[in-house]
Amino acid sequence: MAGRIPQGFIDELTARADIVELIGSRVELKKAGREYRACCPFHNEKTPSFWVSPQKQFYHCFGCGAHGTALGFLMEYDKLSFPEAIEELAGRLGLDVPREASAQTDQSGSTQPLYDMNLKVARHFASVLGGDARAKEYAKKRGLTRDTVEKFMIGFAANSWNDVLKRFGSTDADRKVLFDCGLVIERERSDSRTLERFYDRFRDRLMFPIRDSRGRVLAFGGRIIDQGEPKYLNSPETLLFHKGRELYGMYEVRQSRTTLKRLLVVEGYMDVARLHQAGVTYAVATLGTATTPEHLRRIFKLVNEVVFCFDGDKAGRAAAWRALGNALPEAREGRQIRFLFLPEGHDPDSLVGEEGREAFEKRLDGALPLSEYLATALGEQVNLAHADGRAQFAELARPLVSKVAPGVYRDLLIDRLSESIKLPTARLNQLWFNEATDAAGSHSPSASPDPARAGGQARLNRPRDGGGNKGLVTKAVKHLVHFPGIATRITGAQLTQLEMTDDPGSRFLFELIDQLQQEPAANTAVLLTRWRERPEGVRMTALASEELAAGIDEAGAALEVASAISTLSLEPTLRRHQELLDKGELTEDERAELRELTIAMARSKGAGNSSGTGPAGR
Ligand SMILES: [Zn+2]
Repeated sequence: MAGRIPQGFIDELTARADIVELIGSRVELKKAGREYRACCPFHNEKTPSFWVSPQKQFYHCFGCGAHGTALGFLMEYDKLSFPEAIEELAGRLGLDVPREASAQTDQSGSTQPLYDMNLKVARHFASVLGGDARAKEYAKKRGLTRDTVEKFMIGFAANSWNDVLKRFGSTDADRKVLFDCGLVIERERSDSRTLERFYDRFRDRLMFPIRDSRGRVLAFGGRIIDQGEPKYLNSPETLLFHKGRELYGMYEVRQSRTTLKRLLVVEGYMDVARLHQAGVTYAVATLGTATTPEHLRRIFKLVNEVVFCFDGDKAGRAAAWRALGNALPEAREGRQIRFLFLPEGHDPDSLVGEEGREAFEKRLDGALPLSEYLATALGEQVNLAHADGRAQFAELARPLVSKVAPGVYRDLLIDRLSESIKLPTARLNQLWFNEATDAAGSHSPSASPDPARAGGQARLNRPRDGGGNKGLVTKAVKHLVHFPGIATRITGAQLTQLEMTDDPGSRFLFELIDQLQQEPAANTAVLLTRWRERPEGVRMTALASEELAAGIDEAGAALEVASAISTLSLEPTLRRHQELLDKGELTEDERAELRELTIAMARSKGAGNSSGTGPAGR
């Protein structure tokens, strides 16, 4: 059986494709300015309204609305399935389509060279750390003992563009393996097959090999040791590495002899290393993503208890909220899912260093159960003193509770939530699950006749509380679709602000930019192909067909996005500010809050015009 085609390959293929050449081989194209034009192959016409953009690698017909990427064209015109379209496009470019490693290919050895290379490079990084005074000093400053460095095989990537490349990439075949491991990056538009074609991905970073449960090195995470962006950098998705599946530290957890009762999920490799060092040998970390359902399935294969640990700041709370959303489908009787929020200004690394294992574990014991966290977090979003607020609470809770499988656990959860809104459990159950059968259907995009109208568009467009976010989010997304490269110009501080809002559109924008920063997309087509299976992808593809304002270039688009973000980030502040103003009589605390909000608003107005220059505080 053929395995899944890795996303990294699909990205690369789409980036390399030439849509003009592809469509030109089937339809007669005429150059018109920067684009190409033809009579549409999908509908009957005499005057050409079918356009192909080499820059966006995208086609669009103004007559019938047909549009898409090179892969999309092959699917529509040649009537191919997605994998068949990939095979066809790869064949044209003379590439073999890789398939994800299954247990069989593992043993047949086709991925063995990648494992071998990763191990060699991990050992090399470890030896560089041993010989580099500055890196050693940094590891020491972060409180890592020699034992921990050895246990986690921590190393250092030299501040060089080709240290790894020169050492391990002397032949074409070796360079191919380095590239497939994600250790080197290919320069754009280089036909040369020499060393010059590639450069090292990891430079001047403390390196953490990411190992599978058998101890094989799958990938790397690197933390910058001085100033620089991004602070954390992971290997891209490869044949071996799928970050939505792997948890950093799982191998080391399994190596420790203690009986495993629970797992602690934290956010960084440094946290994992320091926690293990302090004796909390059941800590793992996600790798630059929110906890995925796949992570949770892996966790619950091993233990029945998981504690998610987050920073107590707003970014931490936003991350916790996302983890909660993914944890709900896995919640059931017999399983404990809890949330721990650390005091502000602390991460697990600093806290366990300061107070030691016992005190830290006391915190874990007192972590909030999922039901409590859900009730508290929802309660903070509304005013439970009024009927309106309680109704809003029920509205917010419904889609979340529907993610939990029916059963004892869900009943108990509904029990707990009904307490918050002072409504009998039976009534809430009836409201949510008897009358509201439509809610379940709308979760599955394939069940909906028109996905653009269902989940995707709703999420992109629907403003909460009647705010004017609809246009802003759509506008920002549109600019990103046209110029995916501008995502890297959004600073960490801007992104964090966006992540803190509770508007679904802003959340989506956050997810989009976050993904593009971690895995940049070479052009519009790469981005659209990545999102092809998500409901939002349909809307994004439609936005790719729309024109931007005349004459707008990449820099202009970046400014548009930055300004949309500052307005969107400010929205909750404005709403709360207005709420307090409307209230009239204010308590001491509320007056203080009002003052803070006013200051925050003034500050945002000042920062709104200077996009891209602020410090990245993520
Ligand atoms: Zn047409």
